[in-house]
Amino acid sequence: MSQVRVRFAPSPTGFFHIGSARTALFNWLYARHTGGVFILRIEDTDKERNSEQFLNVIYDSLRWLGLNWDEGPLVGGAFGPYRQSERASVYSEYLQKLKTAGRTYEKDGAVWFKLLGERYEVYDEHRKKTVTKVKVAPTAIEDQIRGHVERLEDEDFVIVRSDGNPVFHFVNVVDDIAMQITHVIRGEDHLSNTSKHVELFKAFGAPVPAFAHIPLILKQNGPGKMSKRDQGALIEEYQKRGFLPEALVNFLCLLGWNPKDDREKMLISDVIELFDLPGVNQSNARFDEKKLAHMNMAYLLALPTERFVAEAKLFFQKHPAGVAALAQPEVFREVMLLAQPKIKGFEELPAYTGYFFNEDFVLDPKVKDKVMAKPEAKTRLGELIAALPSMDLSNDSAIEEAIKHLATSNSLGFGDYQAVARLAVSGTNAGPSITSIFRVLGRTRVEQRLSRLLALS
Ligand code: GLU
Repeated sequence: MSQVRVRFAPSPTGFFHIGSARTALFNWLYARHTGGVFILRIEDTDKERNSEQFLNVIYDSLRWLGLNWDEGPLVGGAFGPYRQSERASVYSEYLQKLKTAGRTYEKDGAVWFKLLGERYEVYDEHRKKTVTKVKVAPTAIEDQIRGHVERLEDEDFVIVRSDGNPVFHFVNVVDDIAMQITHVIRGEDHLSNTSKHVELFKAFGAPVPAFAHIPLILKQNGPGKMSKRDQGALIEEYQKRGFLPEALVNFLCLLGWNPKDDREKMLISDVIELFDLPGVNQSNARFDEKKLAHMNMAYLLALPTERFVAEAKLFFQKHPAGVAALAQPEVFREVMLLAQPKIKGFEELPAYTGYFFNEDFVLDPKVKDKVMAKPEAKTRLGELIAALPSMDLSNDSAIEEAIKHLATSNSLGFGDYQAVARLAVSGTNAGPSITSIFRVLGRTRVEQRLSRLLALS
């Protein structure tokens, strides 16, 4: 069999969303699985709705997700140019072929594609007018995901508008022929266009590519397809929020595909090995933000420490909290090591770690009221302050021993000191272990914070 050639063909008319990313990913996976070629083609013939800004978002998002293209804008290739706006001469050439074959006619200034068959007039109730139909057999589509699909394509259709612009169906098919595309993998919303496309391929005498229409992504709650306006729909947002691209890619792999066992977190090399078009689900996939957050956390946990610290640094460089956090590289590293097993995403870092980098952190009023309501709280604070100068703060177990020792000498337990100490040094009742917080902050800052709470209450 000849080499597989697939294409991702976005129109830069809006931000890059989850559905587009998944279509790109499935094309990329199929190319990598088969040792084929993954092509990026920009369908930007609709001048009014396209913009350079959206084009750059497409390039950036694909690169960020690691979906490198073998042919296309910026990388070139033997079948370029890869932007439809630069392919006018190809379209005139192909239009001429259809004209020569007698498969076009002009009406109302537009160029129409002529179906083959006997014509008859019929009143269309729906459109409330008489239309010309053609006696044809239904067009059969052997879809690699949907199976056998038939559609009756029994009306001629416009291929070049009266303003001279070729329509989507025409340029889409011409490019698939010219770029020798073997498999058209795209969203199910295009299934209804496919009969038109098949008839065009046949009219050109070109081989009809294999089709694979991927089911829709449903919005998290309720019926209906996920739209660009839905929460969590834009790829760029995940990039800004500090999601790990490999986690998002893994999540997207599972939106309509699975490895036929219960594995979820998978190496991309394993997905490439197993991925195949007939393995894509026929039923719609539902977007699940919790599942994505969980996936991201699993990837964060598995990151080598130094890479976690490096990624966290990149995140903070773009965040207002970064100024204080990055001013103390040693503390930063220690704090990130504490955060790695605890956070679901980098976006939680500023809140989770803020008190390590600022002295003016807020005391959670509810926690404060509860902890300080106990009459002995101030006594415990005082005891901690008194014991602190002689405590060994060099490692967590030494700190734990020291607090336990203090507790035992007062006939108390570790827990009797924990809540009040935690409130004093972090302002809250959750977070890393109190011993780690003491160790990372160091004696002076711990002492200041304990004293401040004592003075306040
Ligand atoms: N430009 C079309 C879209 O963005 C792609 C059609 C196709 O993949 O054939 O939906």
